[in-house]
Amino acid sequence: MGEKRKPNMSPVKVTMPEQPAEIRRSNFGEVALGYTAEMAMEEATRCLQCKHRPCVKGCPVNVRIPEFIAKVAEGDFLEAYRILSSTNNLPAVCGRVCPQEKQCESRCVRGIKHEAVGIGRIERFVADWYLENAKDKLVPPPCNHRKVAIVGSGPAGLTCAGDLAKLGYDVTVFEAFHVAGGVLMYGIPEFRLPKALVQSEIKLLSELGVKIKCDMVIGRVFSLDELMEEEGFEAIFIGSGAGLPSFMNIKGENLNQVYSANEFLTRVNLMQAWRWPEAATPINIGKRVAVIGGGNVAMDAARSAQRLGADEVYIIYRRSEEELPARLEEVEHAKDEGIIFKLLSNPVEILGNDAGWVTGIRCISMELGEPDASGRRRPVAIPGSEFDIELDTVIVAIGQSPNPLLRDTTPDLNCHSWGGIIVDDTLATSKEGVWAGGDAVTGAATVILAMGAGKQAAASIDEYLKAKHEEV
Ligand code: FAD
Ligand code: SF4
Ligand code: SF4
Repeated sequence: MGEKRKPNMSPVKVTMPEQPAEIRRSNFGEVALGYTAEMAMEEATRCLQCKHRPCVKGCPVNVRIPEFIAKVAEGDFLEAYRILSSTNNLPAVCGRVCPQEKQCESRCVRGIKHEAVGIGRIERFVADWYLENAKDKLVPPPCNHRKVAIVGSGPAGLTCAGDLAKLGYDVTVFEAFHVAGGVLMYGIPEFRLPKALVQSEIKLLSELGVKIKCDMVIGRVFSLDELMEEEGFEAIFIGSGAGLPSFMNIKGENLNQVYSANEFLTRVNLMQAWRWPEAATPINIGKRVAVIGGGNVAMDAARSAQRLGADEVYIIYRRSEEELPARLEEVEHAKDEGIIFKLLSNPVEILGNDAGWVTGIRCISMELGEPDASGRRRPVAIPGSEFDIELDTVIVAIGQSPNPLLRDTTPDLNCHSWGGIIVDDTLATSKEGVWAGGDAVTGAATVILAMGAGKQAAASIDEYLKAKHEEV
């Protein structure tokens, strides 16, 4: 343990070491390499330990930010981890993929004039340090034998499960895929979020007593009623995400070599196609790939395609750079790696040969008109401005919505017409004993918002079950 240091008034964050763009563009190793202990301690001394803790208000899982950062500044990383993990069940994940600039760091007073404290970077360091250095297994609290089922093992489900296990509930997570983690495993690529690390954090939840059952599609293997009436679960949390891809409904979308980003990224990440031939699932993308869309999913798909060996990878987006919904950091990384941005361009047809394979895409140039309902300027096609790009593969990344299976198999579960489950302020659904949160409720959003919902639902379920058992 070191001594407390003097406040560090540097206007900028300690630089995050990174793999150089020209090297990382052809490997799946992590782009950001993480702080050393020395760097983390130096960045921690930029924190002013504000009494009113504005940064905490920006964190949906209420991480006690100044407290854990103070411990890092002292060099007491174990205590920093204890503080961090008391409210955050997946800190190594959050330290990497949280949109910190819109969450905790957007409230940091150091950010008013200069750069905010690198809260996410310090969090990542602490979580990684613990995973590398902790030797003792976690001890689960005494079990109260009240069974709670969680549908889906993404960040919402895992957070709800972890919080309930910490309170002594007998928690089982049911996951449709053969591996737990949701989008953390099948969507976000290895070079941003190593899969071994996600599994390490899930293992810590198992040590707390959370049981995880994979290959269990709820709505097929058991209905929600069967879970409660036959399997003895007293409450259920639905965190089934938004895994149903949207398409553009343009000519040529059924050609061979048109993927949804979901399918493409699932093959690359979950089925480990990037490790082929060591792993069993190959993926063929050819040399020229276009990704349609401008969000984080599109950036991940484009950067993955490049790493798989494509020579030319395009992002095709109908608005301008200013409206790109992806995180600025992801856009910068994609540009540095050589992704070609075709902005103000809208696909009108995917072109193919007689054998049914993609040969290219036809787009029309756009200009920005008046703002639409979302407040963004509406893209308007410029007549006669069509142009073609020769391609081998097209990846569609224009959005996802919740899968309709649970809605279709649970008549008393009220949902919006677009598929989202309807909940009240406590995240209770229309069905007695069932709560929901994360992307299944909001549509595609973020890891930390899903985790915040999992946390809130765990508190609601705890209150409900306590009241129920007091009544009996
Ligand atoms: P999910 O993570 O989707 O998990 C739901 C789980 O439920 C899945 O494992 C699914 O298989 C399972 N399931 C579904 N139906 C059933 C059923 N009937 N029975 C059993 N199991 C079921 N957010 C960020 O904050 N930062 C990022 O950098 C970021 N990058 C992203 C990149 C990609 C490619 C994608 C797709 C998303 C990204 N997001 C990012 C968004 C973020 O990952 C999601 O908002 C978040 O994962 C939602 O969590 P969730 O728990 O609600 O759902
Ligand atoms: Fe910030 Fe995310 Fe960590 Fe909360 S979990 S402190 S929002 S990086
Ligand atoms: Fe530290 Fe910034 Fe939070 Fe203040 S607002 S306690 S400086 S992280």
